[in-house]
Formats: sequence, C-alpha cells, structure tokens
Amino acid sequence: MFGVIGNPIAHSLSPLIHNSLFSHFSIQEHYEKFLLLDSKDFPSLLSKLKGANVTLPYKEVVMQYCDEVVGIAKEIGAINTLYHKEGRWRGYNTDAQGFYLCLEEREIKNALILGAGGSARAVSVVLQKHNIPVSMLNRSAHKISTFSGVSPYERGREYDLVINATSAGLQGELPLESSHLQEIFSSATLTFDLIYPSSLSVKTLEDFLQFLYKREDTLFCSFSKKCKISTIDGLDMLCYQAFLAFEIFCENAYSFEEIKQVFYPKDR
Ligand code: NDP
Repeated sequence: MFGVIGNPIAHSLSPLIHNSLFSHFSIQEHYEKFLLLDSKDFPSLLSKLKGANVTLPYKEVVMQYCDEVVGIAKEIGAINTLYHKEGRWRGYNTDAQGFYLCLEEREIKNALILGAGGSARAVSVVLQKHNIPVSMLNRSAHKISTFSGVSPYERGREYDLVINATSAGLQGELPLESSHLQEIFSSATLTFDLIYPSSLSVKTLEDFLQFLYKREDTLFCSFSKKCKISTIDGLDMLCYQAFLAFEIFCENAYSFEEIKQVFYPKDR
C-alpha cells in the first residue's frame, strides 16, 4: 500500500491522482490518505507501506526516518516522497523539480520569492541549481538569512519572475499590499502562485480533469492578470510532483511523459 501522510489531510488530491495512475497502468496497488497526529508514529505507519508522500507539517521531521536522502532533498532539507527498497527507506523531494517543470523552456533572468517557508526553500534551491539568481521578501525578514545564496529584496530592483510562496492566499489575502505588489510586478514578465484554486468539489478523475482545464484564478493570479502579466498557479506543480513520485513508486517503469499523458492528453 501507498499513501499520503500529513495533518490536515482530508482534502488531499494525491489519492485521486495516484489511484488513477495505478488503475491506468493496471498496477494492483492502492493509495490512501493518513492523518498523522504525532510524528513519533511515523515508524509504525511506515511499516505498513511501500511508499508514501509526506505533506505539511512533516516534510522536514520525516528525514530522520529515512535511511538515505536522495538528490536535491539533501540541499533543501525536506522530503515529500518516501520509497522502501531493499530494506531501506529513501527520501526524495519532487516538489522542487515539479515546480521547475512548470517553467518549461522559459528564459528567466532572475526571481523574487515572496515567503520564506518550506516551499520557498525548495523553490530557491532548484532555481539556483539552474543558475537563476534568487532574491527573497518575507513578512518575518529575519528568516531570509537562513537561505543559502539568496539576496534580500531591494526596492526598485527589477525582478523577472515573482513567486508567491506564502500561504496568504489561504487566508484570502495577497502576500503584500496591492500597491507594493503592483510596483514589483511593473518589471516582471511572469508570476507564479504556489497555491491552487479550491478543489473541494473534486471527487472523481473526470471532476479533476474538468478542474485542471477550467480552473478559476487564485487571488494572486487574478491580481497578476489585472497587471497584465502572465501567471501560473500551483496546480500543475501539484500534478508534476505527484507524477515524479509515481515514477519513483513504479521504479521508472513509466517515464514522466507517459505518466503526464494520463492527465494532460495531447488531444484534450
Ligand atoms: P510555510 O508555513 O512553511 O510558510 C508560509 C509562508 O507564508 C511564511 O513565509 C509566512 O511568513 C508567509 N505568510 C503566511 N501568511 C502570510 C500573510 N498573510 N501575508 C504574508 N505572508 C504570509 O508554508 P509552505 O512554504 O509549506 O507553503 C506555502 C504555500 O505553498 C502553501 O499555501 C501551500 O499550499 C503551497 N504549496 C503548494 C505546493 C504545490 O504543489 N502546488 C507544494 C507546497 C506548498 P512568516 O515567515 O512571516 O510567517
């Protein structure tokens, strides 16, 4: 069995994505959601699983239960995917690459990240890996100094890509005052909101596909559009991190492109 572990977990879309993929590829596996109230219960939960995704608030703490931390997850200091192989739990971070895949072939000169939480860390590491200079602005400014290679936001400097890695949207707020955001957007060519629109009505694969193709704008994306800037929300990132995790779960039997086809068919 596979599953996603977090608290809260009720509204996770991961079971729908992974069970649809298992079914599409005729793999006899099942994926569930697990509400974990205390991180100390990780070992007993993991003993029942072959692989898992990990979400808030456990992406960092779960590292201590891994026998090996693989690739970019080491630099980020957080994992979102666990896979058990040859008696060892391996931890991966697919959020970072999932985010980067959304930027496709775009040329990004530099990036400003709004926020300094866990997702900002994944985003800052992957951008720097691709030689994109990263600056950061956060409500609690002191947190920025814990990020390696990142420079603090400078008023008046031009930022090409502006990423909202705050959870302000979940409280119905923009990450900054609208006039300040507008000023930052004046030199931007692209914005990215890690949040995605509410998916509460999504119950089946068909609902999910409708949601994917006809979703509403998040507050940040809607504000970007008003400022006439192209924008991306976090739904494709959510899907891509899941596809990358699925690749790990099926030991690369299917490529990312084959997996992506299930949700993003070329003829849709
Ligand atoms: P964290 O809790 O680690 O960090 C939250 C950040 O948001 C902090 O920097 C915090 O600032 C800031 N913040 C919170 N409220 C406000 C506000 N009202 N105004 C300004 N700043 C605020 O969260 P994560 O980094 O894990 O996640 C951030 C968002 O990204 C979440 O909404 C999450 O849903 C989304 N996400 C999406 C993913 C996807 O696949 N699409 C993957 C991972 C995350 P301070 O330091 O001052 O508290």
